[in-house]
Amino acid sequence: MRDQTTTLRPVAKLVRGMPTNDGAGVKLTRIIGGPSLPELDPFLLLDEIRSDSGADYIGGFPEHPHRGFETVTYVLAGRMRHGDNKGNQGLLVPGSVQWMTAGRGIVHSEMPEQEDGLMWGFQLWVNLPAKHKMMAPRYQDIDPARIPETLLPGGVKLRVLAGSVGKTKGPVEGIVTEPLLVDVALPGGSAADIDLPQGHNVFAYVFDGEAKLGEPAQPAARGQIAVFGAGGAVRLAGGPGRVLLAAGHPLNEPVARYGPFVMNTPEEIRQAIADYQSGRF
Ligand code: MN
Repeated sequence: MRDQTTTLRPVAKLVRGMPTNDGAGVKLTRIIGGPSLPELDPFLLLDEIRSDSGADYIGGFPEHPHRGFETVTYVLAGRMRHGDNKGNQGLLVPGSVQWMTAGRGIVHSEMPEQEDGLMWGFQLWVNLPAKHKMMAPRYQDIDPARIPETLLPGGVKLRVLAGSVGKTKGPVEGIVTEPLLVDVALPGGSAADIDLPQGHNVFAYVFDGEAKLGEPAQPAARGQIAVFGAGGAVRLAGGPGRVLLAAGHPLNEPVARYGPFVMNTPEEIRQAIADYQSGRF
């Protein structure tokens, strides 16, 4: 899997998220977008919901707007109902992913479709460059069966949600920042080097068990996110554990963010608020 001419990336930073609330009282952990990791260009936010108590998530995320970036929802357990003002409706089930490009503006709701039982999943926000922030909104709902799985020689199993690993190509296509997003399962004692473009920013979030990340190997456990330094491939080893691996092309543009709007300048944020309040989404 590894281009031998590139160096393996070290772990540059290993941090934990912060428990917080969002939406209508949903308890979650903010892994990117909180004080320990404010952003990782082009990634603006990574939230994890994980609770088997309905009280922690039942309020959901009622109708709210977005502009200027993309929201990616990946469900591990439980069911979430999506609806938006462009006429899209979808039910996210375990193993499915939704890639929504808010572009110039969308108003949607994300509501749990269960009152108790385990709800476990992620939302990742991926920024859009200035020239694409006002693109037409777009929505890709991907059934679990469309997500390819592959077993690497070192015993590592991948579910490729977006981008490609070797010949395995994820179903999400046409994303400006050329992201890779992979659910990695590491049985005990497994290892894999996953080739990534030089210059892309890369993180690995351990969401179950444990793993050894990077070279030299950095032990990490559930709840820790590693940001990798410069290089090519990343080495993922150890286990048993599961890791959400993501890479993306950094935009290197100014970021002006206010709640659900992420633009380049404060003036564009003011415009987004005005457009939303006057019904132009
Ligand atoms: Mn939303």
